Amino acid sequence: MGGKCPHRSVKKRRYSHKTHRRSKFLVKGDDCVYDDLLKTVDEKKPLPLDEDLPGMGQFYCIHCDRYFSNVVVRDEHFKTKRHKKRLKLMLGPAPHNQLDAELAGGMGMPDNGPKLMSM
Ligand SMILES: [Zn+2]
Repeated sequence: MGGKCPHRSVKKRRYSHKTHRRSKFLVKGDDCVYDDLLKTVDEKKPLPLDEDLPGMGQFYCIHCDRYFSNVVVRDEHFKTKRHKKRLKLMLGPAPHNQLDAELAGGMGMPDNGPKLMSM
């Protein structure tokens, strides 16, 4: 074997592997976003101003963890397939997180078992 790219999700030629990977790194995990959503439901406070972010960080999509430069761009984003997909994901059951994974694996706490005696 040994093709060009081992990742099946990279199908289109125009995307290099690096570009594809980068988009994955930029987005927060499902469980992080879900936590944020639960928090923001309780308290509705204005977004903090941030000069480093596009549009001073005022146009934010919680679901996708993305900032937009103005309200038009953000509304356009709300119509995209990617956003709707994500919205649906968040409305469903709570996503798995690290705690779930550890409990399922029977590792609530780190347990290395009884120490073996070496003679
Ligand atoms: Zn979005």
